Amino acid sequence: MSVSTTARPDQVPVLIIGGGPVGLGLAADLGSRGVRCVMIDRGDGTVYHPRANTVNSRTMEFCRRWGIAQEVKESGAPPDFPPTIIYATSLPGFEIARIERPTHGGYKPLPTTPERSQRCNQIWFDPILRKLGATFPSVTQRYGCKFESVEILEDGVIATVTDIASGQTERIAARYLVDCSGGHSGIGKMLGVKQEGKATLSYHLNIFLRIKELWTLHDKGNAAFYFLVDKSGDYGSFIEIDGRELWRLGMHGEQFKEEPTPELLKSVITRALGPNIPYEIISARRWICRDLVADRFQAPPIFLAGDCVHQHAPSGGFGMNTGMGDAVDLGWKLAACLAGWGGAGLLESYEAERRPVAQRNVGEATDNVMRTTNEALVRLVDDDTPEGRDARHQLGEDIVRNRAKTFISDGIALGYRYESPIVIPDGTAPPPDSVMNYVQTSRPGSRAPHAWIEEGKSTIDLFGKNFVLLRFPGAPDASGIAEAASRNAMPLDVVEIADPAIAALYEKKLVLVRPDGHVAWRGNTAPQDPAEIIDTVRGVAAAGKARRAA
Ligand SMILES: Cc1cc2nc3c(=O)[nH]c(=O)nc-3n(C[C@H](O)[C@H](O)[C@H](O)COP(=O)(O)OP(=O)(O)OC[C@H]3O[C@@H](n4cnc5c(N)ncnc54)[C@H](O)[C@@H]3O)c2cc1C
Repeated sequence: MSVSTTARPDQVPVLIIGGGPVGLGLAADLGSRGVRCVMIDRGDGTVYHPRANTVNSRTMEFCRRWGIAQEVKESGAPPDFPPTIIYATSLPGFEIARIERPTHGGYKPLPTTPERSQRCNQIWFDPILRKLGATFPSVTQRYGCKFESVEILEDGVIATVTDIASGQTERIAARYLVDCSGGHSGIGKMLGVKQEGKATLSYHLNIFLRIKELWTLHDKGNAAFYFLVDKSGDYGSFIEIDGRELWRLGMHGEQFKEEPTPELLKSVITRALGPNIPYEIISARRWICRDLVADRFQAPPIFLAGDCVHQHAPSGGFGMNTGMGDAVDLGWKLAACLAGWGGAGLLESYEAERRPVAQRNVGEATDNVMRTTNEALVRLVDDDTPEGRDARHQLGEDIVRNRAKTFISDGIALGYRYESPIVIPDGTAPPPDSVMNYVQTSRPGSRAPHAWIEEGKSTIDLFGKNFVLLRFPGAPDASGIAEAASRNAMPLDVVEIADPAIAALYEKKLVLVRPDGHVAWRGNTAPQDPAEIIDTVRGVAAAGKARRAA
């Protein structure tokens, strides 16, 4: 018996558990597609302690699609605040290394993307997404509402939730449930999802500090990050939050298994900042660094996204950004199934597309934290002697050579690609998989390349809502593709691009791009069986069949 993918009138089409950035991003994406959804969160919607700062260029492209990129840029540090990384023994101590990041910060676009990586802490990023969600009539956001349990039915779920203020429980029937409730999610456990990897890499303490005009109180100059290394090795990080007066000091060690005493807080701060810098502690939080990827991302009609299926070491800033990629991959697929033109294979492809990206990003984040400093050099790093100076110089060269990829990861941000049953491969080899570098390509499964069509309008801006068939000069008649889409009520725009430079960038004369901006199919000739192409990309046929038909 085939089960309908659309919702019954008594069901909420999508129930989202958790209003962190991933749940908020999914609600906004669904809202932008007019899909009715309810998002619940047990908190009050305020982010009290700073976690993610790095909004990478792909997430910025999603923000551009949603119309909030400018607000995100304006909410972090001022545009001229340097995204520089400095390694030092302490803030008043010796400088060891300096890494500049030409692709980060500021508002000037790059050749590969209209949106640079920005620093905007979740303190501001989550509320921007929340405000965006509230602009869509189809989105309901409920705070102070706790998920308790879920019953899985053949064609949906019934979730039990509690209103925290009144204590009243309620049952919500939904066609689909998406768990975005973070690293402590109970839904995955209930479904028997296993978290693979290491549950504990290290214990950490973060201290959120206010320090006015810090740059006048030390000699290192402004930087986004100061990484701290002394005789004991890497011992902490000191990170700008607003580029004005807010900072976050992070330390790791077994002593942070327990709640810190006021004395420990003071000694930790003095070790990093020296004894003379006045500060105000806003908050202090312990957390555990993990390396985990779930063995499953879905048990339809339940899907899991964000930290509940991948927990990263924060080095590199991949966690939230990977979760935003999950939300965007799911958004159009849920919308397509609810509208009736998406087949069962569309939602099934979610795990096939996103789990490998999570594995890659979690692995890379762990490699970043595991990179250690040369012990022989570290022993001398604090010494105010010629030997100490030489050691710092050598260590600095080591750090720049070996650690730049922790901070410059354009390949991670933009270069992930999907090999899945709804992508039709064309037999070409992928560009090299690089953490730092990103090579634009229209190879099926890749993010479709950016180029300016006119001032302020990127090719990226063509994507987001419907499928788009791009036709370049000399393209054959491909009306069969449009007709096959139309027969199946699959929204498709056909866009002609005459610019030869963009045609060369896109490599083939016909390129079919999905609503999430990834290439689904490409070719120089019209497909023999366009219906097969359309059925594959909308999840009702297998990719192998379509490749033979093309
Ligand atoms: C120190 C640090 C620095 C980081 N820096 C970066 C960075 O620079 N870039 C980056 O990409 N990532 C970074 N991360 C990771 C990033 O913070 C997370 O990946 C991101 O917050 C995950 O988003 P999420 O929406 O999946 O989960 P969360 O942000 O954890 O949100 C989950 C939400 O679910 C709600 N919830 C939980 N249980 C229930 C329930 N039963 N009922 C209702 N609601 C519930 C919670 O209230 C919460 O609002 C960092 C993390 C840390 C610790």
